Amino acid sequence: MKTSTVVGATIGLLAVAAVGYAIYFDSKRRNDPEFRRRLKKERKRVLKLAHEEAKTLSNKSAQTVEEAFAGISEDDFPTSMEQREKFCMEQLSAGEALFTQGPEHYAQAAICFFKALKVYPAPAELVMVYQKTIPPEVFTLVMGMLSKDVQSKHERYYTVFPPKDMNVEVKEKPEGVAADGQEVMRRGLVARKSFSAGEIIYTEEPIISSLEPSLEGKNFCHYCLKQIVNEESKVPCSKCTQAVFCSVECKVSASQEFHDVLCTKDLEYASSPEHSLHAYTKTTRKLVLEMLAKFLVMMVHEGSQNSRPEYSSFDHMEQLRYLGISSSEEEEKEMELLKGALGSNIPGIDEFITEERYLLMKGRLLYNIYGISTSLDPNLDDVEPLPERHRSVCDAPITGVGFYKVTSYLMHSCKPNAKIVFSEYDHKVSLITTREVKAGDELFVGYIKNDSLSTEERRLELFDKYRIRCMCPLCETTD
Ligand SMILES: [Zn+2]
Ligand SMILES: [Zn+2]
Ligand SMILES: [Zn+2]
Repeated sequence: MKTSTVVGATIGLLAVAAVGYAIYFDSKRRNDPEFRRRLKKERKRVLKLAHEEAKTLSNKSAQTVEEAFAGISEDDFPTSMEQREKFCMEQLSAGEALFTQGPEHYAQAAICFFKALKVYPAPAELVMVYQKTIPPEVFTLVMGMLSKDVQSKHERYYTVFPPKDMNVEVKEKPEGVAADGQEVMRRGLVARKSFSAGEIIYTEEPIISSLEPSLEGKNFCHYCLKQIVNEESKVPCSKCTQAVFCSVECKVSASQEFHDVLCTKDLEYASSPEHSLHAYTKTTRKLVLEMLAKFLVMMVHEGSQNSRPEYSSFDHMEQLRYLGISSSEEEEKEMELLKGALGSNIPGIDEFITEERYLLMKGRLLYNIYGISTSLDPNLDDVEPLPERHRSVCDAPITGVGFYKVTSYLMHSCKPNAKIVFSEYDHKVSLITTREVKAGDELFVGYIKNDSLSTEERRLELFDKYRIRCMCPLCETTD
């Protein structure tokens, strides 16, 4: 993967450099260091600006935005990179031609500029250029449309996710009462139809998974975590000794999604920032940092694809519950390792990984990852428990951890009505009912192993790890 060219396609703020084509209006000013310095400083404020500008719309303009917005459909936008580039240029020229004809053409011009913004790989930068080059009235209209677009994308999320064929939906559920008497709500997964005990509700692949460090390079696939029983089918990475794969397909997927960037290439070089990240994972046995690195590389890969889904993995991640992490020397060290490993491969990543964003992303992974068990030998006894928190849903030893879009929404119960099974002995989860479930019932799994714990111990562990005050029948009755 040629990261320096594909990064241009990444959505939003990640695409800071190396866009495939010059900004149409003002390439000269973009080369001015003063302008670039301001661009960097102001980039963050763009969405806030959109929001504030939208508020200043007069009633008439607001109506114009409303009408224009209703007339734009997602199908209006081309999908391939080449077509998007052409489309963007056409909209920009049309917009410019329209506004020079006078105020009666401003609304039409604004629609063109909004459409260009929708396909431009670095919308925040384009907004900055608009602010300096188009009439303020047109700019306000474009900002109104942008603000409306962000809002509507947010509102639509749970109507298209999870996909219907997974038989579940996300619903708000009460989670107790706060100190001020307000009811606290959380999200959970609810069955769309009835199931009898032992039925598979859905199967899901992770966004990202990571192998337990001591199993690396041995007989476990670096991509799908499957145990490689047949020595002949083992496919090694051609550049490092850590990654082996169960098949050519897994090797190709891993290369495209993350391994080309994160491979330590230890057959070529003695040491590198990728090496430092890997060594840290190996010695601490903490997998979340490596998962975050994989996640970010994969996000760039995802953004470079011709057919991009409406919601990126980052959009999915942003919806999830997280664990609050405060900054510390250790977090700083991890952040530097992450920036080091990605910096030379992903231009702009340094600016993207702010401390705030880093802690939030890490907190989301820590809260939502599951332990995965793929070993065909249930007595894989030389694997120690992992030091970082993860939902422990399997009895067999953990061979890795995974981060899932839908499965993350499953709530804990000490008396669950479903369980997670790795039925194909790889990183795919299947959710299986353990008793009858009716349409509309919330689905629960056990986040912790609670067989030998008292109610008090369970409560402590659940609160300590997941900030959960369990309201299951076992916790409610055995007081
Ligand atoms: Zn595999
Ligand atoms: Zn490798
Ligand atoms: Zn409970």
